[in-house]
Amino acid sequence: MSGPVRMRLPCERCGTLHIDRGEFSTRPHHTHQCEECGLVWRPAIVDTVGVRFLWEQSEDPGLAEERARLRDGFRRGMARAIADIHAMIDTEETT
Ligand SMILES: [Zn+2]
Ligand SMILES: [Zn+2]
Repeated sequence: MSGPVRMRLPCERCGTLHIDRGEFSTRPHHTHQCEECGLVWRPAIVDTVGVRFLWEQSEDPGLAEERARLRDGFRRGMARAIADIHAMIDTEETT
């Protein structure tokens, strides 16, 4: 199973970059509507999702939550490790 093609999709009429946000970023669709001029067009035969940058992840709320959770865990782990190092250095300095 392959997901929608992530593309930069400038409007065919006014050139405004079409970015799919929210549920559109996770729901593949054929046709896109320009927020600027209202033009509805079909950039490709396949499902596409308009993105600002190709490397940008889709705004899947579950994924974002998971990433935030991992980041928090990592920060906590780092803080603990740094505290341990400080404790080690401090004891070395004082003895
Ligand atoms: Zn769209
Ligand atoms: Zn437009």
